[in-house]
Amino acid sequence: MAFEGLTSRLQNVFSKLRGKGKVSEEDVNEAMREVRLALLEADVNFKVVKDFIAKVKEKAVGKEVMDSFTPGMVIIDIVNKELTELMGGSQAKLAKSNKPPTVIMMVGLQGAGKTTTAGKLAKMLQKQNSRPLLVAGDIYRPAAIKQLQVLGEQIKVPVFSLGDQTSPVEIARQGLQHAKDNGNDYVIIDTAGRLHIDEELMEELKQIHEVVKPDEVLLVVDAMTGQDAVNVADHFNKQLELTGVVLTKLDGDTRGGAALSVKAVTGCPIKFAAIGEKIDALEPFHPDRMASRILG
Ligand code: GDP
Repeated sequence: MAFEGLTSRLQNVFSKLRGKGKVSEEDVNEAMREVRLALLEADVNFKVVKDFIAKVKEKAVGKEVMDSFTPGMVIIDIVNKELTELMGGSQAKLAKSNKPPTVIMMVGLQGAGKTTTAGKLAKMLQKQNSRPLLVAGDIYRPAAIKQLQVLGEQIKVPVFSLGDQTSPVEIARQGLQHAKDNGNDYVIIDTAGRLHIDEELMEELKQIHEVVKPDEVLLVVDAMTGQDAVNVADHFNKQLELTGVVLTKLDGDTRGGAALSVKAVTGCPIKFAAIGEKIDALEPFHPDRMASRILG
């Protein structure tokens, strides 16, 4: 399960604090040293950890906390609140255009879960009585178009495709027009990924962006890749102005680094969490619930 190591380490730290009737400044410092190590070991970005610890300390080392009846509990509560803030505070909702269709562009590296997530998102929107259209814009990965078509059939959502001989920019343009002509209120455009970020890919994504003017640019990142996921997010964000992140594979044994760093590093909110391969394994990301889950 995700965050297992982090959770058990934090629980150790906090069970020591919880048992104390009185908490000294040294106790807080000691606890924070351990929290710091636990976060670093969970692959959380170094600077993010530093700022986080400073914030918690500032709030925890006060007379009010020290004099409370349950100082340990108060400190845990402070950590919980700061973790929630770190991951964005409140839940960041999917954009909705006043002038439908709302256009969503899915971007990310190959294998992150873009195509799967596009299908999951379509299913989620359909459940909310929307009429999404999926657009098959990943013409380079041989199986991507077929994969999207199969997903579309499974959930009964139409898939717009022009095969793999038309440029993705043109596919996106025509896909959007198709949605307008057919009264689809959401268009979800699957785009190509590469194994590594490359300029050609970015250029193509920028061109699609220019043509469809998306309301959402969702970066799909594999949470299992930790710091790498955050670096990828940072890079994409600088090139494309992301509006949100989807963390995938949170059902795996991710250490937590990506979930805890990506918002702080990029400023871009995590909007969804994918928690499995099945079509309904996608949920809105709730920072407060995730913080509670991490604290165990
Ligand atoms: P793309 O190259 O970014 O389009 O990636 P795909 O959508 O093809 O996904 C790559 C692999 O990751 C597939 O085997 C998916 O089933 C798997 N996958 C996607 N999301 C999740 C998830 O949340 N959890 C797990 N365990 N696997 C996932």
